Parts: sequence; C-alpha cells; structure tokens
Amino acid sequence: MALKVQKFGGTSVADIERIKKVADRVTKSYDQGDKVVVVLSAMAGVTDRLIALAESASKVPDSRELDVLLATGEQTTAALLAMILRDRGYLATSLLGFQAGIITDQSSGKARILDIEADRILNLLDQGQIVVVAGFQGRDANGDITTLGRGGSDTSAVAIASAIKADVCEIFTDVDGVYTTDPRICDKARKINKISYEEMLEMAILGAKVLQIRSVEFAKKYNVPVHVRSSFNEEEGTMVVNESADMESVVVSGVTCDKNESRITLKKVPDQPGISAKIFGALADANIMVDMIIQNTRSGGETDVTFTVTKTDFRKAREISEHVAKEIGATEVLTAEGIAKVSVIGLGMKSNAGVAATMFKALASENINIRLISTSEIRISCVIEEKYAELAVRVLHKAFGLDVEER
Ligand code: ADP
Ligand code: ASP
Ligand code: MG
Repeated sequence: MALKVQKFGGTSVADIERIKKVADRVTKSYDQGDKVVVVLSAMAGVTDRLIALAESASKVPDSRELDVLLATGEQTTAALLAMILRDRGYLATSLLGFQAGIITDQSSGKARILDIEADRILNLLDQGQIVVVAGFQGRDANGDITTLGRGGSDTSAVAIASAIKADVCEIFTDVDGVYTTDPRICDKARKINKISYEEMLEMAILGAKVLQIRSVEFAKKYNVPVHVRSSFNEEEGTMVVNESADMESVVVSGVTCDKNESRITLKKVPDQPGISAKIFGALADANIMVDMIIQNTRSGGETDVTFTVTKTDFRKAREISEHVAKEIGATEVLTAEGIAKVSVIGLGMKSNAGVAATMFKALASENINIRLISTSEIRISCVIEEKYAELAVRVLHKAFGLDVEER
C-alpha cells in the first residue's frame, strides 16, 4: 500500500478512450490498496488551441483573462475522469487548482507555487476517495486563477506529492521514461533507469521537455522520488532520485537540444566599466532571462557583446537592446533567430578532461559551425544553426558512446 500521485500528460488524456485507460490505471492502483491523487493535463493540443483562440480575440490578450481561459483545458479532463470513475462505482472528486489549495505568486502565465494547503486533498483521501486535480493551475493571494507555464502539470504533481508526503510521484507520458536524448530525434536513444535530480535538472533546463524545469527543482528541494513512465505500457520507466553510488558512472549521460533561443549582438560597445550592467540591467528590468553571454575584446576601446534569450522574449529584448545601444553609443544591433543550442550533460564531466574537445570534434566532423559556447561543471552547450540541430544531436549521441547498440 502506498500513497501515490499519478500525473497524466496531454497525449495520455487525448480523448475519452485514453481517459478511460487512465481510469483503468488509476483504479488498478486503488484496488491494490494505494491512495491515489491523480493530476491531469489538458487533452493534447487543447492548450495551444486556447492560446490561438485568445490571440484571435485580442492582439495582446490580457494576462489575467488568459489564465482563466487556459485553466479550462485541465478543468475539462479532471471532470471527465472523475465522471468515468464514479460511473465505475468509485468515490472520486475533481478539484480545480484553487480547490486543491495550490497557492501561487501573481505572475500570470508563469506563476510559481508558494504553498499547498492540502487539507481538502487529505480529507478526501481519508474518506477513501480518488482525488483528481486539474494540473497547471493555482490561485494567487487575490483569489485569482493563475497558470504555471507550459508543461506546468508536472510541477503541480510534484508539489502535491511533496505536500502530502507521497511515496512516489508517477509521471505518465508518451515515452517509456527519460532517454539519453529525445527518442523522437535519435532512434538510438537509450532509456535511463535511474537519473540524479541534478542531471535531470540540467537536461530539463537545456531542452528535454519530458519534465518541466520547476518540477525537477521542486523534486530535488523536497526529495520527492519521481518515476517517469509510459501510460501506454506497464514497463518500469526512469527513477529521478538523489545521486547514489549505483548510478552509471558515465562521463556524458545525455544530449539535449533547444530551439527556443535567439541571438542578439551589440556591435562596437564602448569597453568601459558599467556598460554590461546597463545592457543586462535593462533586460532584467523587463523580466527577460538572458542565457549565454559573450564579450569579444577588440582594439580601440570597443567590444562586441553577444547574448541569447528565448524566442518568446526575442522581440522585447531586441527593442530594449536597440534603445540601450543608442544610449551607450553602440553602432549596430545584429540578430539571429534560426539558431539552436545543443548540450551534453553528465556528472562524470566534473572529473574528466577532454569532453569539450570531443564535442567540438564531433560537430566539426559534420561541418557544423559553432557560434557560441558555454559550460558549467556538468554540461557544455554550443549554439549552432537551427537546421543542423537534429544532426548535431545524433552525432554527439554517437560520439559520446550513448548509441543503444554500442552499450
Ligand atoms: P506530456 O504531454 O506527457 O507532458 P511532453 O510532450 O511534455 O509529454 O514530454 C514528453 C516528450 O518529451 C516526449 O514525447 C519526447 O519527445 C520529449 N523528450 C525530449 N527529450 C527527452 C528525453 N531525453 N527523454 C524522453 N523524452 C524526451
Ligand atoms: N496543458 C499545459 C500545456 O500544454 C500544461 C501541461 O500539459 O503540463 O502546457
Ligand atoms: Mg509535459
């Protein structure tokens, strides 16, 4: 008998047939004696359609109202599953984010969970109910509906698991677990049985969308064991847990690719103290996250400053850069949107030289030009042209011995 949170993503609740399969899965656990909280996403494609609908209604949809709209996707699936469970004779209750006590900050569209008042969930569980929670949403201090950013149901699930001290948070999705790289890009990707929070976090940050970044941060902070597995079969998936001695000691454990990047260069910036602070201060004031930064040294007291931001923030970042460029006397602002960031990740990198060289050599072997490079203790990232992204992933996967046939 265990206390479980089971989260099902968009493809796992794509239609009524699929939701009935979810009901099979949930009741199987319940019948074994488990207490189950189910967290659901919207049906596949629904959140995108709601966004498109909002954009056809308003040029810049009001962010509060957009949250109200987007939250309906998860409201629908939660109610449908609860109905199906009740028809089968189970006690089940659906709860929207606010009813489940999910309290967030006020940043519409990317709210952070601050607290979970879990009494209602716990009471329902005590009554022997299956609790079905709408993922991706909460309420702020004003009582308004907020949403947690794309992929946010993962975070709802992990946060609830931590609040009710669940034994495990199961993330049911459309792949068998976390792979060494996106199995849809590389057919030689290999399923990882156990991965550390740290590596999983890097993979999520660097583009593996199988888990939302914040869900991994949450799991790591509160030590929530996460089991990523398929909703289409019964196979064991991937356990995301603390680093342990029995983890595979490989130098590189994963390769990721992120196409949500764009590049901005300010040309001939005066090489003086305070200039970088001005550029990046202005971007920070606009709540824009800057990823990579490179400053070239040039002669004559001038330098070029290049950085990357997400595609979503690109237009705003370009406007701000043009404004700052005028102010500080930079000659020009250059931009590039068709770029991608490929990264290799591994705890083993901490104690291994030569990873960067292997990476650069592999990319060079396919004539892929590297535009920007950044590194941390456990990863190396290169910005390349977007059209080479998939090729680069496959080449790197092979170069680091991750291809399935080689192990
Ligand atoms: P859900 O709708 O269940 O939340 P997502 O589409 O958000 O599912 O995430 C699952 C997808 O993540 C997979 O279909 C896969 O293409 C992608 N993905 C990217 N990188 C990886 C990886 N390293 N391992 C597994 N899946 C990955
Ligand atoms: N429905 C939301 C999205 O598509 C949240 C989620 O599925 O996790 O991003
Ligand atoms: Mg997802």
